[in-house]
Amino acid sequence: MSGKRVAIVGVTGAVGAEMLEVLAERDFPISDLKVLASARSKGKEVSFNGNKLPVEELTAQSFKGVELALFSAGGDRSKEFAPIAAAAGAVVVDNSSAFRMDPGTPLVVPEVNSEDIPGHNGIIANPNCSTIVMVVPLFPIYKLARIRRVVVATYQAVSGAGAQAILELENQTRAALEGKPLEKNVFCHPIAFNLFVHRDPKGEDGFVGEERKMIRETHKIFHDDSIAIHPTCIRVPVFRAHSESIYLELERPVELEEVREALDEAPGVRIVDNPEKRHYPMPIEASGGDDILVGHIRRDPFNEKALSIFVSGDQLRKGAALNAVQIAERL
Ligand code: NAP
Repeated sequence: MSGKRVAIVGVTGAVGAEMLEVLAERDFPISDLKVLASARSKGKEVSFNGNKLPVEELTAQSFKGVELALFSAGGDRSKEFAPIAAAAGAVVVDNSSAFRMDPGTPLVVPEVNSEDIPGHNGIIANPNCSTIVMVVPLFPIYKLARIRRVVVATYQAVSGAGAQAILELENQTRAALEGKPLEKNVFCHPIAFNLFVHRDPKGEDGFVGEERKMIRETHKIFHDDSIAIHPTCIRVPVFRAHSESIYLELERPVELEEVREALDEAPGVRIVDNPEKRHYPMPIEASGGDDILVGHIRRDPFNEKALSIFVSGDQLRKGAALNAVQIAERL
């Protein structure tokens, strides 16, 4: 197969670095790879498949001849440059929230709604990482017995807030153990040995932005606004992989065995549920992997139509880079 001319926007970031890994691992057909970031990164190099590539500054001229542009440089850059890339003939897969709720932009998790991809007008949006980690294991259960209500609490890794947030947890942990003051640049509270509600602004509905994204994006991906979703988004001092405790009310009672079978057969899901060994999903085991781990599967003893699961998924991979590359593969 002949290769594509590909650009990665935001290549020096946490997601950009993962894009390079995933493209190489999956042997994505590339004839030319352009790596873009801000003026700050001019002169830096990144490695791809053993070759060093010079980082170029993102400008309106960056997309000449580019066929596929993978964006992960924040919403403002996407709003400005994704339409320019699309007008230059590239298909954009965008990791930011800039176009997710735009009615003309498909919002895609390939395991759930890859049929939405062909409806694009040059831009396809990748959902929020907490949304992806939730909907991949929810979809097989949704197909089994419709989901009426979801109550979800997230345990989100710091890398979800970018490369600087990883450094902040590292530095604060070291400082805390040495009894030194904790410096804050990314988060408004100390993250080492602490946790807190997601920092996004709170809306009139009382939900923070991340929580609202989980509601709206899930509705769009499932094409079903009737699911009642109540998220609580929490940042925790974990480097990588988001976990979520998810309570589900279904349309009908189901046997747990049916749920396990549906999850077992679902692409992108791996059951990790071994009570004898006290072995359930953990971010440390989800990190670096492609699957969303699902376990601690229980029935609600007070509601025969309800159950709960605990999940962990690498939000830099399936929550961002891998999902984007899977969309590109389907293109
Ligand atoms: P990050 O580590 O902070 O990286 C940001 C990237 O954007 C860097 O490459 C940075 O380049 C580039 N950038 C910033 N300002 C720029 C400008 N003016 N022009 C060109 N490039 C610029 O952030 P991240 O975590 O990778 O996230 C990137 C995007 O992906 C965000 O929209 C985020 O919401 C989304 N996302 C992140 C995750 C996650 O788990 N982290 C998951 C899903 C979606 P420099 O190094 O030159 O500054």
